[in-house]
Amino acid sequence: MSARLLDGQALAALLREEIAPKVVEFTGRHGRPPGLAIVLVGQNPASEVYVRNKLKAGTATGFRADLERLPESATLADVLALVDRLNASPVHDGILIQAPLPKGLGPEAASRVFDAIAPHKDVDGFTPGNVGRLVQGRPTLVPCTPLGIIELLTREGIPIAGRRACVIGRSDIVGKPMALLLLQRDATVTVCHSKTPDLAAVAREADILVAAVGRAGLVTKAFVKPGATVIDVGMNTLTDLSIAAHWYPEGHPRLATFRKNGTLLVGDVHPSVADIAGALTPVPGGVGPLTIAMLMANTLRAAQLVLVAGSR
Ligand code: NAP
Repeated sequence: MSARLLDGQALAALLREEIAPKVVEFTGRHGRPPGLAIVLVGQNPASEVYVRNKLKAGTATGFRADLERLPESATLADVLALVDRLNASPVHDGILIQAPLPKGLGPEAASRVFDAIAPHKDVDGFTPGNVGRLVQGRPTLVPCTPLGIIELLTREGIPIAGRRACVIGRSDIVGKPMALLLLQRDATVTVCHSKTPDLAAVAREADILVAAVGRAGLVTKAFVKPGATVIDVGMNTLTDLSIAAHWYPEGHPRLATFRKNGTLLVGDVHPSVADIAGALTPVPGGVGPLTIAMLMANTLRAAQLVLVAGSR
């Protein structure tokens, strides 16, 4: 069997096409486009790339998209002051804090900063109120990555209700909200993590397997029930050519990419899983572009919420 590839890139383009006229309508009605502010603290090279892609997608879809940059030397008070200013900004409907924050800000920094975002501008769905609403099954702003995965499963006609789902990873940004969204759609959900014994056997029970770990190739054929849908959230950089050479046969385009760039972006799912899965998201071109498309959807939703909050 060779898995059907679930093309996140194509769906993301379609979603943005669907959002664009709504952005035009909002702009016409309110005299300004919906606005997104992305806060980037310090100089993490991967974050620079993610932020650039988000800003580009925002502008291309008709949003106002601003980068709010702070230096590596910024204090926690500086970051909180910036969040306060954006909370009060009449042109920014959504605020995204690009993670990770510099370690120098201290261990509590992430929760202090995320908690400070006005809930109706929280396009990452990270604030306690938004998380609580998701847990209670009345979500408003939901983390973009799991939201994109649900959109993909739905549009690809992959049934969720009554199916066994397994989510590997229990982060606040992917694993936990993913499990909740699947549960709310009547899947029977198992959440696995680094202390789960016999992970492969647990994962093999699943009709829908979501890998959100951050370990290249962790999910092998032994983890996958034949015909299952496998969603690969992982984004890992392979730097060892011998691993890539082990994964891909000589002449494979992915090997050529490695040789050209000296590194290769790969997921948590080993390529051989394509032999056994029924459907599979590629990396790159799967979950990543959907995350950005859902950021656009959330920003538009936040713009509508901001107006409701402002009219109170
Ligand atoms: P995270 O916060 O580091 O969480 C990783 C999770 O994986 C943890 O729950 C951890 O368990 C679990 N884990 C680690 N090693 C494991 C193992 N050997 N077996 C089973 N579980 C294990 O990561 P994250 O933010 O959720 O991100 C996960 C991956 O997705 C990363 O590669 C990230 O870059 C990628 N990502 C991609 C997108 C996208 O748009 N494509 C968006 C977000 C994240 P414990 O809780 O026990 O430590």
